[in-house]
Amino acid sequence: MRRERDTDVGMRLYDTAQKTVVELELGDHVGMYVCGITPYDATHLGHAATYLAYDLIIRRLEDMGHTVTLVRNYTDVDDSILPKASELGEHYLSLAEREIDRFAADMAALGTRPAAYEPRATRSIDAMITMIAKLLDAGHAYVSADRVLFDVATFPGFGKLSGYSAEHMTALAAERGGTPDDPRQRNPLDFVLWQASADGEPSWPSPFGPGRPGWHIECSAMGHAALGETIDIHGGGDDLVFPHHECEIAQSEAIHSAPLSRYWVHAGLVSYRGHKMSKSLGNLVFISDLRARIDPRAIRLALMAHHYRTEWEWFDSEGLTAQRDLDTLVGAAGGAATATGSAGGSSGLFAEVQAVLDDDLNAPTARDALLGAAAAVERGAGGAALRGELVAAAALCGIDLNRPPATAAK
Ligand SMILES: [Zn+2]
Repeated sequence: MRRERDTDVGMRLYDTAQKTVVELELGDHVGMYVCGITPYDATHLGHAATYLAYDLIIRRLEDMGHTVTLVRNYTDVDDSILPKASELGEHYLSLAEREIDRFAADMAALGTRPAAYEPRATRSIDAMITMIAKLLDAGHAYVSADRVLFDVATFPGFGKLSGYSAEHMTALAAERGGTPDDPRQRNPLDFVLWQASADGEPSWPSPFGPGRPGWHIECSAMGHAALGETIDIHGGGDDLVFPHHECEIAQSEAIHSAPLSRYWVHAGLVSYRGHKMSKSLGNLVFISDLRARIDPRAIRLALMAHHYRTEWEWFDSEGLTAQRDLDTLVGAAGGAATATGSAGGSSGLFAEVQAVLDDDLNAPTARDALLGAAAAVERGAGGAALRGELVAAAALCGIDLNRPPATAAK
């Protein structure tokens, strides 16, 4: 049974659009859209860090009494998956199917709350075509050769999410899949809504000719289909602020009278061996490899050691440290039942973890509080009540301490 929501308590998060930490004003029901993966390779630690941050937000919002509808899409047709499928000599949808299964297994192992909807781009083409037709009708888009482009000059707010200058956006567009130098564009920042498919690529019929959607229109169409014109919280990794989310805002708000999202939340990128994790550099740390060595709950603990908005570097030693920390927590919990009424527990641990999560998702301090409580239990303090509260506070962070460690630290 859902308990009454305490409307005096609010979560504070950094809103990318307002460029400050704001207190979220949310109704009983919260619609959340987190940009999902392009399923052409295994889930890496950077993905996990982003989805874990969102998972902690969801868990705390549910703890407050909100009902959260999470939508996380699969970008199963775009400029990344098609060349990879071709390189493998495999149909792109069979590649997608396999990688979606691996992603789902990784997310389940990490204990993330399941998404209510997991739309796939290839199953949402009609909604994209409808949006593009509206944009053309309204004069926000134009046909140029075999592409339909969004005309950014018709949307004065372009750049309002990132706050970037036109010069900076143009430079980033060139790095991130845009074609700012294409002379057929009215503006270097105009972006693709629809394009003719290359030989061997999938193609769908449309009023603007056969082809396939651009990446950005996919998420707008899937987000609106699941959550309506305005999403409460939308985000993903930091690298999506521009161009992806800036373009989503332009194409959605150009034809709607409401904002695309009330709040924008982005997670910092993770580095490894001195560089941001990227497929092109080959410095990815895969969740499936980590899971073979350490308990997935230890992966959560390791990720909690870093604030979601910081850019940070992963070191292999962190996995083993986190496994030892997990062992300590499980040992301290000692199979205690979750304390009933934990929020009012005598030690204040549960309330402390709630409060630091509310403070722009301060997971590192929440993790320290859990470990501090475990140390107190080991010193003989707190008794069964503190152990119960430790179990409850860890559960709020998505960590079940009543299961023995799955993998001993090696
Ligand atoms: Zn997206």
